[in-house]
Amino acid sequence: MKKITRVIAAPRPHWVGDGFLVHPLFADHAFTNDISPFLMLDYAAPREFKPSAKPPGVGVHPHKGFETVTIVYDGEVEHRDSAGNSGVIGPGDVQWMTAGRGILHEEFHSREAARRGGIVSMAQLWVNLPARDKGAEPAYQDIRDAAIPRVKLDGGELRVIAGEHAGIAGSARTFTRLNVWDIRLDAGGRAELPLREGDPAILPVFSGRVAINGEKIVEGSHVAMFSREGGTISIEAKETSRLLLLSGEPLDEPIAAHGPFVMNTRAEIMRAMEEFRSGKMGVM
Ligand code: MN
Repeated sequence: MKKITRVIAAPRPHWVGDGFLVHPLFADHAFTNDISPFLMLDYAAPREFKPSAKPPGVGVHPHKGFETVTIVYDGEVEHRDSAGNSGVIGPGDVQWMTAGRGILHEEFHSREAARRGGIVSMAQLWVNLPARDKGAEPAYQDIRDAAIPRVKLDGGELRVIAGEHAGIAGSARTFTRLNVWDIRLDAGGRAELPLREGDPAILPVFSGRVAINGEKIVEGSHVAMFSREGGTISIEAKETSRLLLLSGEPLDEPIAAHGPFVMNTRAEIMRAMEEFRSGKMGVM
């Protein structure tokens, strides 16, 4: 059994552009090898937006050296990038963007959803790339809810966005071995999650309340972190709960992070800033 090493309470939220009020759920563990191969997780809890002709969101900005994974729970998010990809994702859909050697993009509520107004809720996870793949070609995986394999749980459901659970392979192509499982449990629902010995595991609880390993109660907007040792995590929902299970092969390489760039050294960060300034990451 993997032991809980820490439960993090949600840090105060901040706005990303004018579209997403997010809690950076990994707090001071973000951008550390405690959570490798993951880097950070922003969670925008359900929030009502008034109808607007001008979609809220965040304008053109760069990324380099990692991947952004956007999961929409309510509303619609529209994306456009300098590699020529664009798309609108809605509830249950996932956008897996490889920034790799460098990309520019923008992220807004969709024009249509903004015009209607309504609830928006989403999460954005940053997945690190190993040093050997930081120069990968930028890519975009548009993963629709209907295409994500589901595993039935005792009183709930697990969607295998990436990795593998119960012999079912997830939708996303990844550079290293990792699991991203989106879990919903009804009150009284249970899940036994077998994980690999030696892998870090992180369990963000977006909403609800769960008992973990038959002891610790973890509430919504909290994140449970686990020991690398041990294999299984057991969860019992005390009320309807939505969670994300993250685990995988740790990269354990040096992390140099600066704003939208995540490299291995300061010199590479300086180079990334120069590449962005000189238009080498593309134009929009
Ligand atoms: Mn971005």
